Amino acid sequence: MVISVDYKSGCLVCGKELVYQKKFENMVCYYCNETYDSNVKCVDGHFICDRCHRLSANELIEEYCIKTESEDPLELAITLMRNPNLKMHGPEHHFLVPAVLLASYYNMKKDRKKKETKIKEARRRAEKILGGFCGSHGDCGAAVGTGIFVSLITGATPLSNHEWRLSNTITAKSLLSIANHGGPRCCKRNTYLAIIEAVTFLKEGLKTTMRIDEDMKCEFNPLNKECIKGRCPFYDGSRNDH
Ligand SMILES: [Zn+2]
Ligand SMILES: [Zn+2]
Repeated sequence: MVISVDYKSGCLVCGKELVYQKKFENMVCYYCNETYDSNVKCVDGHFICDRCHRLSANELIEEYCIKTESEDPLELAITLMRNPNLKMHGPEHHFLVPAVLLASYYNMKKDRKKKETKIKEARRRAEKILGGFCGSHGDCGAAVGTGIFVSLITGATPLSNHEWRLSNTITAKSLLSIANHGGPRCCKRNTYLAIIEAVTFLKEGLKTTMRIDEDMKCEFNPLNKECIKGRCPFYDGSRNDH
């Protein structure tokens, strides 16, 4: 997929052209899984309902993560990042990290009820981490997002012992991984790094294995003026960029 300016006017999932059919038919919304009568979908068959069209970035992340069956947090994050509501950089990534991790975790545990409650609580917590936190507080919101995730799955509180250690450790580990690459900040790079650290942490500390593609390449560098290119482990030099 090539991202271009057209991306903002085509399909919200893949950026391709929209097709208007003569006849209305039942279509299932890509994000909320509800069925609607419609005559518009993209050339690849993606349909997005009017309600999902109007959602804010955090509402969309919440809706999609509650409905999805996926157990791959990296794939979930990239799918959501393709929606133009999620900006190249922005505080929605602070919620994106715990949301995709919680969705994958509770999908693996087959516990939909807990998934929904925890994702809503993660949003409440993540919305307190303001934009630009990485620069102003020395604490990238994507790293804090992994702390929110581990705090929620372990039930940590400020008074816990083991759970407290786990949630603070994951924030420390993902923050170090993010810091080691230097700036300028990139909400995509930091999200990937935070998710990869969380997946390693789950495997080593909590004996839970999530399957992700750690060798993935980023498709968003053409949108990032400050891309660090060769210093980024996800940089794809074959893409058209600045
Ligand atoms: Zn599409
Ligand atoms: Zn929908």
